[in-house]
Amino acid sequence: MAQLAGISPEDEHNRALVANVHPPDWVNPEPAPRYNLVVIGAGTAGLVTAAGAAGLGARVALVERHLMGGDCLNVGCVPSKALLRAARAYADVRDAKGYGVEVPPGARVDFPAVMERMRRLRAGLSPIDSAARFRDLGVDVFLGQGSFAAADTVEVAGRRLRFRKAVIATGARAAALPIPGLAPAGYLTNETVFSLTRLPARLAVIGAGPIGCELAQAFARFGAQVTLLEVAPQILIREDQDAAARVEKALRRDGVQLTVGCKIVQVERRGADKVLHLEVDGKSSALPVDEILLGVGRAPNVDGMNLEAVGVRYDTARGVEVNDRLQTSNPRIYAAGDICSAYKFTHMADAMARIVIRNALFFGRAKASALTVPWCTYTDPEIAHVGLYEQEAARKGIAVQTFAEELADVDRAVLDGETNGFVKVHIRRGSDQILGATVVARHAGEMLAELTLALAAGVGLGKIGDTIHAYPTQAQAVRRVADAYNRTRLTPRVKSLFEKWLSWSR
Ligand SMILES: Cc1cc2nc3c(=O)[nH]c(=O)nc-3n(C[C@H](O)[C@H](O)[C@H](O)COP(=O)(O)OP(=O)(O)OC[C@H]3O[C@@H](n4cnc5c(N)ncnc54)[C@H](O)[C@@H]3O)c2cc1C
Repeated sequence: MAQLAGISPEDEHNRALVANVHPPDWVNPEPAPRYNLVVIGAGTAGLVTAAGAAGLGARVALVERHLMGGDCLNVGCVPSKALLRAARAYADVRDAKGYGVEVPPGARVDFPAVMERMRRLRAGLSPIDSAARFRDLGVDVFLGQGSFAAADTVEVAGRRLRFRKAVIATGARAAALPIPGLAPAGYLTNETVFSLTRLPARLAVIGAGPIGCELAQAFARFGAQVTLLEVAPQILIREDQDAAARVEKALRRDGVQLTVGCKIVQVERRGADKVLHLEVDGKSSALPVDEILLGVGRAPNVDGMNLEAVGVRYDTARGVEVNDRLQTSNPRIYAAGDICSAYKFTHMADAMARIVIRNALFFGRAKASALTVPWCTYTDPEIAHVGLYEQEAARKGIAVQTFAEELADVDRAVLDGETNGFVKVHIRRGSDQILGATVVARHAGEMLAELTLALAAGVGLGKIGDTIHAYPTQAQAVRRVADAYNRTRLTPRVKSLFEKWLSWSR
């Protein structure tokens, strides 16, 4: 039953998952005469749109061709973060001696047990995205490929769904890479890597973006010999360079063989081996591995929807074109999530869905450009970021002042043995307005929240300095950054006035 929906292995957990997100015995309902909203795609963007609209009283149809919950639940955030947690548990045991804890020699990762834990937790989270739950919320759930049959009609599994407004929320998939021999040799993507039940002894990860770095580190900690290959001169090329350097150091420490500036010329099969032919600095080499994991970006799911017929403009690289109100070139059709966003995150899909509900159903004027979008790469340490980067500000001609604090100077980080990190905040020069921030820390994603709120709400860095932070926490690094800013307000003139007052009042 589980294999029906392409999820393996077939065990009790995957059966429970599939029973929730693609029930094999699901019978599509009789379509309503007309829907306020027909949503194609039941990943985060589609689910949030459908649930929110139905909750407000709209008649909603939700169409899903594969697994409700989309990438995030099935082959993205949820399974990857379950693996990362297991990898962190291993690292803690590995490093226990440094904390005075003796661990008997021979601690090792039981990979099948790690994967089973992930499948169990994923199945446990799946009822919230299930077809039955959405039916109970009043949404008509249709399983099948959705496509536009007319200007006001979506077709799915032989049924025609007439709509007042429609939403394209079909997400993205792993982008392919045209390396000769790669496809015939076979490779893993996020759609298949979470089905592994045996640890590959040697793994090549192509692409040192967030997905590549997270999984390279996890598999190295599980005991695989991991080589991470990146064409750019740096890992996590979009991130702050200092931040990427910290993660690079951590990856190397975990045993990841990192090759940047690398061209993969060809892949060939030699017996059971997959051999990657590489070129680095003009030198050629061959890398035999057992598995290859491809993580070089995402390609939008625009195919097979008959978008041309309904006047929805799209690009096969960037996805469906939308305006700031998330309306496509057909004003009755909106889009949300990975299909139309450069920010391919679950929280962004969620935020865009909320905009679509307001704009499509209630003449709302909400704009995507008004969103403050944080993100985090969940390596150990994590890199979390919000707002502008320093180079970006320079490109835009915005003068910034940067304040940074090392975790090595923060008591709690020292006590935790987690000093590989920092907090960096950029403010508009001449004010305390926060324009951007990067945090590198074991729990950087959590630490970024207050800076995101400050940025979104226009709370200045000075105010953060005036806010008590519990001692000892790693978040005190944020307070220290703010204190550093506040000290700059003590100009020589103000200081001399203070000195005069204090000597007079002695
Ligand atoms: C390995 C990995 C780890 C990730 N980790 C994180 C993370 O930690 N944090 C984070 O914020 N983001 C993470 N992401 C990104 C996150 O998963 C996506 O941004 C999010 O899932 C996007 O949601 P969506 O609804 O736009 O698209 P999707 O989740 O892709 O959902 C789209 C749905 O539409 C369906 N569909 C497509 N075409 C049709 C059609 N014609 N008819 C019917 N149905 C159709 C698909 O089957 C799919 O279910 C990760 C992604 C990956 C791959």
